[in-house]
Amino acid sequence: MSKIYMNGKLVEKADAVISVYDHGFLYGDGIFEGIRIYNSVVFKLHEHIVRLYESAKSIDLTIPLSIDEMCKAVKDTVQANAKKDGYIRLIVSRGVGNLGLDPRKTTNPQIIIIVDDISIYPEEMYEKGMEIITAATIRNIPNALNPRIKSLNYLNNILAKLEANRAGVPEAIMLNHLGEVAECTADNIFLVKNGVLKTPAPQCGILEGITRNTVMDLARAEKITVEEVVITRHDVFIADECFLTGTAAEVISVVKCDGRKIGDGVPGAMTKLLRERFRKFVGI
Ligand code: PMP
Repeated sequence: MSKIYMNGKLVEKADAVISVYDHGFLYGDGIFEGIRIYNSVVFKLHEHIVRLYESAKSIDLTIPLSIDEMCKAVKDTVQANAKKDGYIRLIVSRGVGNLGLDPRKTTNPQIIIIVDDISIYPEEMYEKGMEIITAATIRNIPNALNPRIKSLNYLNNILAKLEANRAGVPEAIMLNHLGEVAECTADNIFLVKNGVLKTPAPQCGILEGITRNTVMDLARAEKITVEEVVITRHDVFIADECFLTGTAAEVISVVKCDGRKIGDGVPGAMTKLLRERFRKFVGI
């Protein structure tokens, strides 16, 4: 039985319950992280925790643990579950309040750490590449709700995911309010053009993925030129290669977008190289 961390205690899954008055449930008022465990090591734990605390700061939520205490809580929960390879969902909600949305009426942010398994795409998709669409739903406008905040309110992404589902594809590109490519519903996007690796800049309204940053580092180590730039659908259509990155997805090739073949319509050489380097880096 899996053990779930709830505010300093490890409880059985069946007993891991939160109040219906929690503002995380009522309003999506909270933040979270998704983190991988590879070979018993929590991958990029510090980076994930830093992003969590930055999300918290941005929504004016004080997490009642220090960064070091939070890292220890994550590691202890992984150990308690004896998990060698898996996925961690770390959630901090605003806590219990009344039915009004005023955060001042809430008490005790809830800290929850779930350790489980994850596999989102079949192995075959990694070999053959995936097909995606461009969603009509645009990404949240940064001045309304900045995508850099990994908030518990994922409705924006879910609306785009519904479009992908209806189109029968696993992911969808979300454009920003200027019509530029931002990211996918739960992954960052990369293009390869004439040997240069390109990805939307943080100002394009994206979540700055930990996998994205890792892949950019790995590319630079291979002496590949990496550019964080404005990308449009035109760039996607004329790209030599396209791939997505994310904690759950890792590195996955995209071979078709909106029914159009990208490059040769098969996973490209740079995508394959970076996927291989990424897998080596995490030890799989
Ligand atoms: N964009 C969005 C909207 C996400 O939810 C995620 C996380 N799944 C990513 C990008 C990728 O970020 P990371 O590599 O940190 O998982």
